[in-house]
Amino acid sequence: MTRERQSVSTPDPDPGGLVPRTGMPAVPPLPPRDRSPGDPLPPLRIGVSACLLGQEVRFDGGHKHDRWLTGTLAQYCELVPVCPEVEVGMSIPRESVRLEGDADSPRMVAPRSGVDWTAPMNAWSRRRVRELAAEDLDGFVFKKNSPSCGLFRVKVYPDKGMPARGGRGLFAAAFAAACPLVPVEEEGRLEDARLRENFVERLFAWRRVKDAFAGRWARGGIVAFHSREKYLLMAHSPRHYQELGRLVARIAQEPPAAFRDRYLGLYMEALGVLATPRRHANALQHVAGHLRGRVTDAEQKRVLAVIEDYAHGLVPLVVPVTLLRHYVELLEVPYVRDQVYLNPHPRELMLRNHV
Ligand code: SF4
Repeated sequence: MTRERQSVSTPDPDPGGLVPRTGMPAVPPLPPRDRSPGDPLPPLRIGVSACLLGQEVRFDGGHKHDRWLTGTLAQYCELVPVCPEVEVGMSIPRESVRLEGDADSPRMVAPRSGVDWTAPMNAWSRRRVRELAAEDLDGFVFKKNSPSCGLFRVKVYPDKGMPARGGRGLFAAAFAAACPLVPVEEEGRLEDARLRENFVERLFAWRRVKDAFAGRWARGGIVAFHSREKYLLMAHSPRHYQELGRLVARIAQEPPAAFRDRYLGLYMEALGVLATPRRHANALQHVAGHLRGRVTDAEQKRVLAVIEDYAHGLVPLVVPVTLLRHYVELLEVPYVRDQVYLNPHPRELMLRNHV
């Protein structure tokens, strides 16, 4: 027998019949951040599923505190908690919800009571995403598997048959669609050292590239920006690096807005390609090439041997990068001294100790 669905047009005061409710007060939007080129970088501003910050907002009144987020990343970021289910008006605790129907356009339903939250969650998500976009977020970390927050492989229950992991939480889907360039990740995937390093690298990269195009940007500033990013881009995707280079060569001929949009899209797409040890080794060898004639042959050989060790998995990336940085800073090697690749994120995060 099919149960009749009860859809919610405004937030139901007690959809699952579960009291007490604590609810979250309406979240006041954070002020936008107007900056001009040259202003000091403010801390990154990262949206986070609120339960990952230890807030007891889950359906069972619990949380999923992620200590790396609050203990480590929080030192460099302002974390902005968002709990879609509580902010849309669900209670704590509450009947859990799940995705049902078509994975491309799923419904959000509380299966026991039959309450359908799809319309209010989609409407609230659109509104909240607009607010978050205006707050100039630098990234978002979502809770995995959630019908609201899950970014990848969320379970969807079809009308007939077994559930499949092919969906995306309704809020996560709205955010990703409205802010396609903003780096997003799930907390579960951040346990993988390479994905974690890539995500943090993209957070800082997105901040830098937005800063480069802030206000009345000048062509010369963008050419200099692109030049500083050379080896970082090469470590991710030589193909994108070349394409960006061709685009920058035409900067004077392109309408500024079209150029900016094309550059931003290609740049973030490039950094979304995971850097491999082979491509890192290639970038490192290019950096090492700038030492030639400034160090002895023995020192040059030693540097290349350490890069080889890294390429063969014998030492982590931090080893050749630290060695190169040492020579580049000591000898004040022009051009590579300013390369972001040698310092893409705070060293204290120790992200390159594990890749
Ligand atoms: S996963 Fe998302 S909706 Fe669920 S409790 Fe956490 S923040 Fe709230």
